[in-house]
Amino acid sequence: MSLYGIENLPYGVFSGDDGTRRIGVRLGSGVVDLSPLGGLFAASTLNPLLAAGPPAWAAARAQATAVVAAGSSATPLDQVRLHLPFEVADYTDFYSSEQHALNAGRILRPQSPGLASSWRRLPIGYHGRSATVVVSETPVERPSGQLADGVFGASQRLDIEAEVGFVVGVPGRRVPTTGFADHVFGVVLLNDWSARDIQAFEYRPLGPFLGKSFATSISPWVVPLEALAPIPAPPQDPSPHDYLLPPGPGFDLRLTVDWNDTRVSSPPFAGMYWTAAQQLAHLTSNGASVRTGDLYASGTVSGPGRDQVGSFLELTWNGAEPVKLADGTTRGFLLDGDRVTIGGTAIGAAGVEIGLGSVSGTIRPATG
Ligand code: CA
Repeated sequence: MSLYGIENLPYGVFSGDDGTRRIGVRLGSGVVDLSPLGGLFAASTLNPLLAAGPPAWAAARAQATAVVAAGSSATPLDQVRLHLPFEVADYTDFYSSEQHALNAGRILRPQSPGLASSWRRLPIGYHGRSATVVVSETPVERPSGQLADGVFGASQRLDIEAEVGFVVGVPGRRVPTTGFADHVFGVVLLNDWSARDIQAFEYRPLGPFLGKSFATSISPWVVPLEALAPIPAPPQDPSPHDYLLPPGPGFDLRLTVDWNDTRVSSPPFAGMYWTAAQQLAHLTSNGASVRTGDLYASGTVSGPGRDQVGSFLELTWNGAEPVKLADGTTRGFLLDGDRVTIGGTAIGAAGVEIGLGSVSGTIRPATG
């Protein structure tokens, strides 16, 4: 059974030979053109649909479902080009996997391992760079920067972070956790490429900057929340502040990370400590607004097993324990020419497994 059947129908933007960008839904290994329906589908990005809100989202999904049920033909994906599906407004990245935060602390701050005192009080995050959010298959140039005191050069510790991105549709401020599904349209898979050497030298005390701003890749398909089956969120101790309650839904998303042709990890999203509803509530709790096209990411998804971590920092323990790939070579961090693919599946609202698409990128040599 296809992971991209009528129960899924994620939205994307594609073009064919004439170069015109059209909105479609993925069906099997093809895309069904929705642009003939007009209205919100007669656009070159998903932003008008995102802005239209839940009743319009439900109507659009019903229309797409009807088109597919009527047997509309799908154009094979190898005959189209997939584009960034929406214009990214602001981009925020959280840090909501307890296992990742613990691992990163042990590796990067061995003198003070463990969680920061605020970590269980609020979903920690930082504001990233929306201009460098790119669609899957966009090559990623190795960044250059200050690697240590007085040393400028190409990053030697280029890494990934396997994450889930949430796409905001309806603008808002002070969004309660119960308002999550009124504002958030759907999810993408996201790779927060990270230069650990640049990051390590620059991040104190203000956090990630150039070590992450050079590129963030997302999958070309936005899976609407309507296609996903929510699950109970994990317990939280201590109980969060009132504005972060109720916690909102969890999601049983199962990610995979392939390094070249080797599956190196399978991170489980279901165990994330902070929910996407709490992240949005926190992000807007001070009165800050979100707008259509805002993208906020979960933070690196890491489970308790070494084969469940969402970064190579953790997989190779900062390069100290290299991983062996299928071709017999070993890696600590990314080499030029390496390709990483993050994939994912979920149990959908209809009770069948659905695909979340994938996000891939290949490393090009530094030019600066
Ligand atoms: Ca991240």
